[in-house]
Amino acid sequence: MIVKDCILVLNSGSSSLKFAIIEPESGLARLTGLAEKLGKPDALIKYTWHNENAKHRISLSGASHQSAIEFVLRLIGGQEDGMNRITGVGHRVVHGGEAFTASALITPDVLDKIEDCNQLAPLHNPANVQGIKTISDQLPEIPQVAVFDTAFHQSLPQAAYMYALPYELYKQHGVRRYGFHGTSHRFVAEQAAEYLGKDLKETNLITAHLGNGCSATAIRNGQSVDTTMGMTPLEGLVMGTRSGDVDPGLILHLSHTLGYDATKLNRLLNKESGLLGLSGISNDMRTLIEHATDGHQLAALAIDVFCYRLSKAIAGLWVAANPLDALVFTGGIGENASLIRSRVCSQLQYLNIHLNNKNNDQNGFDSLGLISEQHSLPVLVIPTNEELMIARDTQNIIDRSAVHHTDDHP
Ligand code: ADP
Repeated sequence: MIVKDCILVLNSGSSSLKFAIIEPESGLARLTGLAEKLGKPDALIKYTWHNENAKHRISLSGASHQSAIEFVLRLIGGQEDGMNRITGVGHRVVHGGEAFTASALITPDVLDKIEDCNQLAPLHNPANVQGIKTISDQLPEIPQVAVFDTAFHQSLPQAAYMYALPYELYKQHGVRRYGFHGTSHRFVAEQAAEYLGKDLKETNLITAHLGNGCSATAIRNGQSVDTTMGMTPLEGLVMGTRSGDVDPGLILHLSHTLGYDATKLNRLLNKESGLLGLSGISNDMRTLIEHATDGHQLAALAIDVFCYRLSKAIAGLWVAANPLDALVFTGGIGENASLIRSRVCSQLQYLNIHLNNKNNDQNGFDSLGLISEQHSLPVLVIPTNEELMIARDTQNIIDRSAVHHTDDHP
């Protein structure tokens, strides 16, 4: 049962829809769920209500994003007073281009601007726009807010966001670095500042979000000043199935000498590379650690490359965030893989990073997330919560717009 004012959070991927109902104040998630393989015969929706133990799984064969959202709304409507408790809908939107430096209340003008960004994220933004339109149709009275993956990184200085390509490509086609995972980096930065007892506006951090996608961000005085992802989420660190940085000349080589076309290159770099490509067995770090422990050499190599590249990126980001107050790990790997944190930090000893092995092995569980020695730069493990950040942004923006509204019409 939904008992307090709640935000419905929707995160539409290219073929999936994550959803949650969250109480922004307490952070309690009343409902969490995922619809996957949308558009395919084996499309499926899974969800759990907080007050039940049961995990529900229902086939949604061939369902579109729109019908998955409609299913979620029926689910909520089936609860006593369910729909009345929803005060707003927060959408994760992947790309806000240069138009959005913060989350925004959805208006027709804002929706137009989001659609203008579709060409920058052709697989994701159209699904996000579809989600917004479906809610507008079904719940026209409920305010909606867009929370952008890119917005936190709009504070990057030009030296950090420009590629050394002809300037015209930037001016005419928006070719520049944007960065992603901004909601997660912002969430853990706020938590880290609170942990350190500092004002976020005076806090310098490097945050490493390590999930299936991976990125690290340099945060100076609470603002993102550099990040490893670029124009697309392909740039930077080694990820589950993405290569991260490669020599751009290699793409020309594959195209000229092996005849790879754009479709094949896209699949290679986004779906067949990274941990999966190197190991040949899995994109999943837990599986790779198990195999490496059993002597699988390519699994061990994938872990070596992942850790080395991450250490090198963190050392590079130091240039932008110096003097640093803390290094933060988050995401499925960052929060759970003590081996990876230990390997990365051991390569950063010359930057005064020294882990406390016991705290690290417990994922900082008994030390409020602090996994470093006392004399070390603080290293923190902070679980990310993008859905909560979206819910809080949504509630704040709705509250603020209500105040403005009252001011406008005394
Ligand atoms: P997503 O980006 O899809 O949200 P997650 O943040 O859940 O992904 O991270 C998924 C990654 O976290 C996978 O590589 C998974 O193996 C890894 N992971 C989760 N738990 C552990 C663990 N205990 N040890 C090592 N890796 C883990």
